[in-house]
Amino acid sequence: MSAPHLLPTALPAPLPAAATTEQLEALARDLRAAGLTPLRSAGELEGLSADAFVYSPVLQPLLQGQRAQIGVRPGQRDQLPAIAAACARHGVSLTLRGAGTGNYGQCVPLAGGLVLDVSGLNRLLDLDPATGVFTAEPGLLLGELELQLQRRGREPRLLPSTVRSASLGGFLAGGSGGIGSLRWGFLRDPGHLLGLEIVTVEPEPRRLQLAAAAARPLNHAYGCNGILSTIRMASAAAVPWQQLVLEFTSWDAALAAGQQLPASALLLQELCLLEAPLAALMPWPQGCPPADGGAHRLLLLAAPEGLPVLEGWLPELGGTLCWQAPQRESRGIPLRELCWNHTTLHARSRASGWTYLQLMLPQPEGPALAALRRRWGDDLLWHLEGVRSFGAQRLACLPLVRWRDHTALEELISQARSLGCLLFNPHVLTVEDGGLGVVDADQVAAKAAYDPAGLLNPGKLRGWLER
Ligand SMILES: Cc1cc2nc3c(=O)[nH]c(=O)nc-3n(C[C@H](O)[C@H](O)[C@H](O)COP(=O)(O)OP(=O)(O)OC[C@H]3O[C@@H](n4cnc5c(N)ncnc54)[C@H](O)[C@@H]3O)c2cc1C
Repeated sequence: MSAPHLLPTALPAPLPAAATTEQLEALARDLRAAGLTPLRSAGELEGLSADAFVYSPVLQPLLQGQRAQIGVRPGQRDQLPAIAAACARHGVSLTLRGAGTGNYGQCVPLAGGLVLDVSGLNRLLDLDPATGVFTAEPGLLLGELELQLQRRGREPRLLPSTVRSASLGGFLAGGSGGIGSLRWGFLRDPGHLLGLEIVTVEPEPRRLQLAAAAARPLNHAYGCNGILSTIRMASAAAVPWQQLVLEFTSWDAALAAGQQLPASALLLQELCLLEAPLAALMPWPQGCPPADGGAHRLLLLAAPEGLPVLEGWLPELGGTLCWQAPQRESRGIPLRELCWNHTTLHARSRASGWTYLQLMLPQPEGPALAALRRRWGDDLLWHLEGVRSFGAQRLACLPLVRWRDHTALEELISQARSLGCLLFNPHVLTVEDGGLGVVDADQVAAKAAYDPAGLLNPGKLRGWLER
């Protein structure tokens, strides 16, 4: 049975018209007057307009070819108001861009206009040694943030598997969680984001300091309701994480280990379970034996003091230790670049016909997985991630899905939902459709307050389109 309308077949509507030549010339003049260099070459605009949407065969045809008409890359936060003012004065839409690693076209401009690349705003501004609270500019790369925090005994609580390439602002505005979600939940959980400085998009832009509650509607809003100019967040005490690869010949034992390990007092930062055929598609760190497809692999980041406990527990769990190394001394690919959507990346690099889904599994997980397997066979490969969701340990599933067509994917989504899975759909364009599907009135109200002309990232906030 197919479920219509789960997947987009056209861009959201209504979208504003692309800027006219006159609007663009006036905007470029204002940018130059503010000491900024407008980016206008075809190569630059192409580079500023794409992200990693190719993982979705649904989004790919919709987003391919969407282009910015002009770009700008400021080096100082003080330049943001002039850019916002120029866009507001000339009615040109404005899309923020961090590192462009999002998977749903979050930073792809759907109506042309200006792309504001924040990669030049990349400073760690403050780290309070007593509390670990840090303040940083949005373009700071997460790997660099991690290094700077580690030098002072701290580390980010949450990181995407794209930690080496993604920016802090892009993660906050476009990401959701990842490494650390086992322990810390997701970015939108209260307590991670402590404050923001934002710039509004108006002829006379305001620079506002928002405390945690007021900042919340801008968290995971795809840059639709304000330009983030500084970000204040909590960090964690740094841990010298140990990487472990465990092997299980029985899927049931591997799944049970994935449920039991997070329910222990072991300090774990990441738990990723890959079923055997998927493990066989992955590259492995130097010194770790390649997977031959015979065993399921459970990847862990664990604090060192827990290792003797784990070793003693493993025979009872039905697993064996295949490889172990400290994360900081890892050679070759680190384990954290085999989990979350890096699993999808590596599988796709072996065969581009794979795409994926993002599900929170019902508890117990086994029956839903078995029912999906019965219907879809080897069109699905299991990739599970341990997460904390609303304070409870859960297993999320990012299955690799063999792409057939829209109808098959919609049928799979419908079946997963009917089995009690919660879907975070990676094949949609709006903030709401990729989340719980409902409009967040606070996000829309923030847009009305900070972007009254609706110029920021047009088309991505469904609540704004449906007002
Ligand atoms: C292989 C792979 C693995 C991934 N793994 C994960 C994962 O583990 N967890 C996860 O959450 N995501 C993951 N992602 C998605 C993505 O990499 C992350 O969400 C990343 O943090 C996005 O950062 P970015 O700098 O690339 O953001 P971009 O893609 O540049 O932007 C993301 C959104 O943020 C907005 N934005 C950027 N800067 C600002 C600003 N200053 N003000 C307002 N809005 C702004 C943009 O407009 C856009 O809507 C993965 C992607 C890939 C390709």
